[in-house]
Amino acid sequence: MVTAVPSRPGSRTPAAPAAPHPAAVAPPPGALELVGVAKTYANGFVALEDVDLRVGRGELVAIVGPSGCGKSTVLRLAAGLIAPSKGRISKSAGDLAYVFQDPTLLAWRSVRANVELVCRIRGIPKQERAERSARALELVGLSEVAGHLSHELSGGMKMRVSIARALATQPDLLLLDEPFGALDEFTRQRLNDELHRIWAVEGFAAVLVTHSLREAVFLGHRIVVMAPGPGRVLSTYASPAPPTGALDHQARRESPELERLALEIGRELAFVS
Ligand code: ADP
Repeated sequence: MVTAVPSRPGSRTPAAPAAPHPAAVAPPPGALELVGVAKTYANGFVALEDVDLRVGRGELVAIVGPSGCGKSTVLRLAAGLIAPSKGRISKSAGDLAYVFQDPTLLAWRSVRANVELVCRIRGIPKQERAERSARALELVGLSEVAGHLSHELSGGMKMRVSIARALATQPDLLLLDEPFGALDEFTRQRLNDELHRIWAVEGFAAVLVTHSLREAVFLGHRIVVMAPGPGRVLSTYASPAPPTGALDHQARRESPELERLALEIGRELAFVS
């Protein structure tokens, strides 16, 4: 059974049925909270209107919606890269890391150097930098290529380095903006599995912007559907089979409940695209 929690009147999703996943209605204490947030860019374009979004500690929230509905704007606001025009944004005290679709690695530096660089920028001492980068590369399964130049890697490996770079900062909150959008379907699935596994070990909260509904339902405890004109949250779905510490990737990928949820969100998006 799909559990939908319409966030505004007139949502096309059905009212929440009995016993939704607890994360649907009461996410655990916040890693991130946006309340009544609006964003008008300098040119007068209203990108977001009255957005509420809560991400609990350790919670994975996927955001889907047509291009231009303000998904990246939400992430940029959450990261503090831009300021809201209205509303309130609060974050837990811990570190925050951002993963972009483009891995943006320094091509002629080693994988290890790329991962360590972000720690260096944050003033982390040399020994700790080395330890953090070794652990982060182990988490993404790239210890063996730590000394390779990053331009020698495949697209999927580059993205894993980008994730390792984010993990080396030991974030409480990971913001991922369509990180696997440029990868083939097989690599994308593998990286979805890896992100799930790493989350199970590290326990960070994450907001994942994605165009893939399968990815959203596979990785999300909750899935937020946004609509444009101006950007707003249309509805929020609680996963009927949320990610847990059990790494039952294939079973979840084949779960009819998740399949139904992806179809239902797809139907809703067909009205707003
Ligand atoms: P999405 O990630 O959903 O594709 P974005 O958040 O990137 O959407 O953009 C939302 C809307 O805001 C788009 O119409 C985009 O053109 C506009 N926009 C984004 N950044 C700026 C900016 N710096 N100035 C003006 N408009 C912008």
